[in-house]
Amino acid sequence: MIPLFKTAMSDAAGEGAARVLGSGYVGQGAAVEEFEAGLRRELDYPHLVTTNSATSALTLALHMMALPPGTKVLTTALTCTATNFAILANHLIPVWCDVDPETLNICPRDVRSKIDAGVGAIMVVHWGGYPVDMDELAAIKEEYKSDFNRDLHIVEDCAHAWGSSHRGRSLGTFGDYAAYSFGPIKSLSCGDGGALLLPDADQTERARRLRWFGIDRSFRGGDIPEYGFKYHMNDVNAAIGLANLELSRSVVSRHRSNSEFYDQRLAGADGVRLMGRHPDRVSSCWLYTLLADRRDDLVRKLRSAGIESGQVHARNDLYTCVREFTRPLPVLDSVYGSILCIPCGWWIGDEDRNKIVDAIKGGW
Ligand SMILES: *Cc1c(COP(=O)(O)O)cnc(C)c1O
Repeated sequence: MIPLFKTAMSDAAGEGAARVLGSGYVGQGAAVEEFEAGLRRELDYPHLVTTNSATSALTLALHMMALPPGTKVLTTALTCTATNFAILANHLIPVWCDVDPETLNICPRDVRSKIDAGVGAIMVVHWGGYPVDMDELAAIKEEYKSDFNRDLHIVEDCAHAWGSSHRGRSLGTFGDYAAYSFGPIKSLSCGDGGALLLPDADQTERARRLRWFGIDRSFRGGDIPEYGFKYHMNDVNAAIGLANLELSRSVVSRHRSNSEFYDQRLAGADGVRLMGRHPDRVSSCWLYTLLADRRDDLVRKLRSAGIESGQVHARNDLYTCVREFTRPLPVLDSVYGSILCIPCGWWIGDEDRNKIVDAIKGGW
């Protein structure tokens, strides 16, 4: 079976992890520092701390904003539950916004229509790595400021977006909060891990304390002015991430070339609609998503041809735990049964991608 996901692991990862394991110190130490320096270089952004997952980073970002309980957070239902459970964990209210059918990202028009004085933040997810229009978000932030005379917080969930950029700038570096995931199936994997990007040096110092109980590790025995969490990364995961950092460039580049291949070869194919593309946005192409007629039949056809496919994330708004927040999402309703991701990752060679295209073009 050609899998939909596979973990890219550099040959050096085992050696790097083994060095830490044999060193007598496996907690947060030098490897974490070194990995963070690598991330700063790669993203060209100074204000970040690593965490043990993107879920922790998203939860910490909302915690740090100290929004009053019950404040509304505009968000998308089409994402990993991590995005929205971070809202619930902070006693905030998710307000579902509809998706843009061209990208499956949150729809800026719907965001605008749902902004009022009770809204304190927006969570956006770059679906499959395809950038949300950051100019639109900046405009929405400005409108909010002039209407309510305070800042609207933006949290970018960049879990799909390692390698993505808008106008040459890496996602997550636009001056608000953002989370990257280095989980098992993401393009840069630490086994598990994450990073939180922050607006400035002061918030970054604060996050550095809060990820480890609120303790300032640079001097022992000091006071804890603000309680924190156990959200830090350890040196074992950091060593794996460090070993995979360079590899992740070639991983992303193969995702991208496979996606371009599908864009060309599947254009105009019967029964599928492809996603929209804008010239100013570079996607990590972590997922290759299309909208397929009779999707479940295509999934079965692909499976019988030895190709795994799927919708990846189930919409979050229909779970019992968020039933009280239900609202109409007509665009998501209209596309949801058609969303399909096909394998496009670094493990897909020329033969595999031809096989996948032929299977789809052969009809179902
Ligand atoms: C993977 C993922 C997360 C969670 O990442 P972890 O590092 O596993 O916590 C969050 N959001 C999205 C969109 C994801 O795909």
